Amino acid sequence: MGESKKRKRHRNKRGGKEEQPVLPSPCAKRTKLKEPSSFLQKMRARLSGGHFRMINEKLYTCTGEEALDYFKEEPSLFDVYHTGYKTQMSNWPEQPVNVIIKWLKKQSLSFVVADFGCGEALIAKSVKNEVFSLDLVSNDPNVIACNMENTPLDSSSVDVAIFCLSLMGTNYQSYLEESYRLLKPGGWLLIAEVKSRFDPNTGGADPKKFSNAISELGFSSVKQDFSNKMFILFFFTKKENQISKRKEIEWPMLKPCLYKRR
Ligand code: SAH
Repeated sequence: MGESKKRKRHRNKRGGKEEQPVLPSPCAKRTKLKEPSSFLQKMRARLSGGHFRMINEKLYTCTGEEALDYFKEEPSLFDVYHTGYKTQMSNWPEQPVNVIIKWLKKQSLSFVVADFGCGEALIAKSVKNEVFSLDLVSNDPNVIACNMENTPLDSSSVDVAIFCLSLMGTNYQSYLEESYRLLKPGGWLLIAEVKSRFDPNTGGADPKKFSNAISELGFSSVKQDFSNKMFILFFFTKKENQISKRKEIEWPMLKPCLYKRR
């Protein structure tokens, strides 16, 4: 083999047209980067969805005190929870908090409101009334961080007590007892809860038993609104005089509202 042939083969091996590495065009480069980033976005969404479901299950299966300890130890879980919560809510045709805000806007501006388990405090941000926003974590100076069975508010100091999808703890009756303490006689108690928690076919509570237990605590049932697909809205007012028989009240178990992976 002559020297020239050798060189030719060598050139072909390292620099021949077919074997030369193809450098991606700037355009190809962009397309390549797009794939992993959308994959990562999906991964992050899945992980945060998974975390949301875990926190949600925890909140439905522990007491308020345990939930407070849990969030005190890791306050960042609150944001993870609410990111997932908003995603879930975006699938609902109507948000219960908006129905409550609409109702509140028709009431007297002088009504003082307590929003139990306020989340991102949408009620306080939407109405002109004085609103005490209560939740386990406060990322907002206007939110009082507490376990809502034990709030720092005065007895008989509020006109409206609201629980919007927040009767989560296994001891939910203590939250209602606290609302009874805070409410003025004649004051309103509004509860929005997920419909499936009251579905008798899947072990849900009987809404009548739930309502009766609240009446025994010292409230009059004014109306129940079943018209929304995803939630029931209960309206009560606090009775003027009530002899407390708290220990005798039979509270139905409220089935946890667990979300499936989509
Ligand atoms: N009411 C809001 C948020 C509902 S999510 C809305 O409709 O947009 C339920 C909220 O209840 C969560 O923010 C959770 O932290 C809060 N919560 C649950 N148990 C609580 C407790 N024991 N004390 C205070 N907040 C509680």
